[in-house]
Amino acid sequence: MEDKEHCCAECFKDEYIRNFIIQEGKKGKCDVCGRDNVFVVSFDLVADFIIEGFRRAYETLENEGFWHPEEKRYCDSVTGNDLGQSMFEALYYVEEIFSDDLDEKTAKNFLQKIMNSIKPSFREIVRGDGDLYSDIESPNWMLIDELYYSGNKENEEKLFYSWDEFKEITRYNFRFFDVTNDNKREELLRKLENIFKKMKSTLLKGERLFRARVYNGSLKKLEQPKDIGPAPIEKTKSNRFSPAGISYMYLSGDIDTCIEEVVPQIKDNVIVGVFELKKNIEILDLTGNPVKSTFCKSYDHDTRMLVGYFINKFSEEISKPMGVNDNKEIEYIPTQVLSEYIRKLGYKGIKYGSSLINGKYNYVLFFGAGR
Ligand SMILES: [Zn+2]
Repeated sequence: MEDKEHCCAECFKDEYIRNFIIQEGKKGKCDVCGRDNVFVVSFDLVADFIIEGFRRAYETLENEGFWHPEEKRYCDSVTGNDLGQSMFEALYYVEEIFSDDLDEKTAKNFLQKIMNSIKPSFREIVRGDGDLYSDIESPNWMLIDELYYSGNKENEEKLFYSWDEFKEITRYNFRFFDVTNDNKREELLRKLENIFKKMKSTLLKGERLFRARVYNGSLKKLEQPKDIGPAPIEKTKSNRFSPAGISYMYLSGDIDTCIEEVVPQIKDNVIVGVFELKKNIEILDLTGNPVKSTFCKSYDHDTRMLVGYFINKFSEEISKPMGVNDNKEIEYIPTQVLSEYIRKLGYKGIKYGSSLINGKYNYVLFFGAGR
């Protein structure tokens, strides 16, 4: 017992691992960072806790991957790309469980010791106990269901829906309602509804948002607020969020961003309108992250995969500046359909990141001219 090694909460960044150590720990010295008189747990206890969380999100490639016998690697049977990551890569780079104070080498060493502390004995291995975890560097792991979400494997019975698949179906199969008997898309929308609830945020009364327009006419002829407000219905064109005939309002969180978003050319004049909210409104905030740590007991893997393969992709798509050569009538349909669904759920708008200025935000509000 006495010669067991121990570690403290400060050696980790993940809050659930930290809490586990503080709750289960005894006062002592950390063998990793050297802190004394802090809560510490033995490596084998923390190993069990880490593995429990890790397995909520990862599965071994043996079940899913395609083994390339000559090149001795797992690959994707469709693309031939390398599959899999090592346990260390997943925990260090993806889940980011370790304290920033530990460099890669120290963290790897630390993880190896943690996993060695529960390594089955030779006798146990002979008896049939597997040793999945002491090899922390081979790329034996992948996210559960990753191949299905990435579209490289099909499964008729389960719901695996990526943004790419939704786009394809909405553009070319059926647009407004599910026409076939499988209600896959409706089921997807119900799942998204639950995730969206965790991404709700409130824009407060009095908050100011900005809208720019290239305007090279005479300022004397400028009519306010008409010339800077949302387009009147008869002038609306098809765009990322709304089809022709429906007017939404596009705004930015600050002046610099709204000017960038209209992509002015040299010598263009740009006018900027300032809009103030008259009341609180609830919007969907795509810049928030609803995914919990895999070390949290209520971690939900479906949420993580839908956020990664659907919501974040949708968010990237709506953040892109509008391409001149896009066939807007077709390209914008998937985002228009999803936006209308979000509107149907009662949200008054969407907040999303600007692709032109990092860390700045844009908004679409679901009310146009005269509403
Ligand atoms: Zn420590």
